[in-house]
Amino acid sequence: MSPPDISLTPTLGTKHSGIPERLLPKATYAKSLVYQGKTVSDSTPLTRGLPIPQGISKNAFLTAISELQSALGSENVVLNDKELKNGWYMEHPNTHDMMPLHSYEEFVASAVAYPGSVEEVQTAVRWANKHLVPLFPISMGRNLGYGGAAPRVRGSVTLDLGRRMNKILDINAEDYTCLVEPGVTFYALYEEIVKRGLQDKMWIDTPDLGGGSVLGNTLDRGVGYTPYGDHWATHSGLEVVLPGPEAQLLRTGMGALEGANTWQCFPYGFGPYSDGIFSQSNYGIVTKMGMTLMPNPGGYESFMYTFPNDSDLASLIDIIRPLRISNILENVAQLRHGLQTLSVKGFPRTRYYTGSGPMPEPVYREHLKSTATGDCAWVYYGMSYGPAHIRKYKLDVIDAEFHKIPGCKKIDPKTLPADEYFWSRDKVASGTPDLEELKWVNWMPNGSHIAFSPIAPIQGEDARKLYGLAKKRHTEAGIDLMPAFCVGLREMHLIVEIVFDAEDEGMRRKAEKCLRDMIDDAAKLGYGEYRTHLALMDQVAGTYNWNEGSLMKFNNQLKDTLDPNGILAPGRCGIWPARYRGRGWELKGGETSVEGDGVAPVAGQSKI
Ligand code: ADP
Repeated sequence: MSPPDISLTPTLGTKHSGIPERLLPKATYAKSLVYQGKTVSDSTPLTRGLPIPQGISKNAFLTAISELQSALGSENVVLNDKELKNGWYMEHPNTHDMMPLHSYEEFVASAVAYPGSVEEVQTAVRWANKHLVPLFPISMGRNLGYGGAAPRVRGSVTLDLGRRMNKILDINAEDYTCLVEPGVTFYALYEEIVKRGLQDKMWIDTPDLGGGSVLGNTLDRGVGYTPYGDHWATHSGLEVVLPGPEAQLLRTGMGALEGANTWQCFPYGFGPYSDGIFSQSNYGIVTKMGMTLMPNPGGYESFMYTFPNDSDLASLIDIIRPLRISNILENVAQLRHGLQTLSVKGFPRTRYYTGSGPMPEPVYREHLKSTATGDCAWVYYGMSYGPAHIRKYKLDVIDAEFHKIPGCKKIDPKTLPADEYFWSRDKVASGTPDLEELKWVNWMPNGSHIAFSPIAPIQGEDARKLYGLAKKRHTEAGIDLMPAFCVGLREMHLIVEIVFDAEDEGMRRKAEKCLRDMIDDAAKLGYGEYRTHLALMDQVAGTYNWNEGSLMKFNNQLKDTLDPNGILAPGRCGIWPARYRGRGWELKGGETSVEGDGVAPVAGQSKI
């Protein structure tokens, strides 16, 4: 094992993907915790050599790469032929998944290209069509838990848009909107608002960790925790390079009207609303996106309640539903399991328990007694917005309703130390990006995570069923269950993060089986995932199969029309271009490689 490297993380001043100065001490500490748990060297050799995509010979591929280097500059097209550097959240790789469910060398890129302008993105698309090389676009590549920066097809060329296209093109303080390029992180947008002295006026909405890009997170339909938490619903306007040989450029919504000054104000424009086909898809490369910003509500107040029994879940969810729909509960709040409040302290599981199988309830409850939440089964983290008198009305209603659960406790924030996790939720729910959430990856050595994320109505019975199936499958697999219900307006996302040791093959297989079983169990009960990891996309897409899979037939028609050569992110979200279809590329579980058996030649190209 190489000595732990706890040198400072790059800051925003030195790198587009860096940490704000204000979070540097926290990042240094987080990094030291991660490195304490690392048992392997940071770099992995490429034992299988340069990963060439199927359908092209090595010579032809290398010639094609030289051509792209001439067009974009040799320093902007880099072959992935040395070793894989894993790093950690703040210094993540852009070549592969650093939290692999299979080997590091399966979902892996052959090269990374860094376009510096929309024209260069178009050049890369034309190049990919000419040489039939798959491209995989990323903005920041921090989609960790869902595949990170990794391409679905081994040997794709990663198009890392974030490094050179990372400008905040506009912040409109009158309309409360902004326009960003792919490489703008939540950290960077927040810092710019502070720099312009606008933080008392407007807020951004951020996910738990602020290092992802506003654009990439929104395209993958990520969520945050202010009332603007549904990022897709609050964006307005895209600029997109289409994947066909022409690499056509389009703007959606009002952006299609030359000279319009409403691109970021009115998302729909006229005619079909086309933005939807560019999210969770492989139909285009988004080069600009508009986002709305939230007016400062004039005050806010976080609150936390605990509930004593696992079985309180259903009644609690039934209490939450009407409060959430009527906006008394105003934000995408979280109902977390007690075990998660233990894991987010950042220490390894072995500190609390060294036995095998899921940590027994009496064990973690005993440990919880000495934490700020105390002995409990569930913790609700919420926030009330507005001036004090407005908040009081809402908080009184919430308090009366929550106390209908026997044993419910409100924890007074004044009793909580400054480093308590609660204060991180407080920051995030008031639009200040943080880093605290990273800590629970340390639950396991070489801590990696992957999520099961089904959607359900806000109904106690649905929560009970989902929790029950997750518990059953986790118990079978011997994995700790750490569920969190994130309650949207009329639905809830259940997020179950499985934390696993990336170096433990047996554990990876157990995690995969557990996930696949949960996806199937959930589908039988009528629940589907809102988002998933690269390795699970075919399975999840296969559950959305009403009327003999008519939705996927439609998706395939779109794919074949927009991307006739199948060069853009083949297989992403289960959508395979014609050249790949029916050749065994789909992953259904149990495969030893993520690759299929070749690709079809296109007219005019001889089969390789
Ligand atoms: P983040 O910026 O949050 O780290 P990623 O860059 O990893 O997110 O992107 C999340 C997902 O969205 C990826 O799987 C990627 O393929 C897709 N994506 C990201 N940026 C773009 C883009 N500009 N155009 C099209 N798809 C994108």
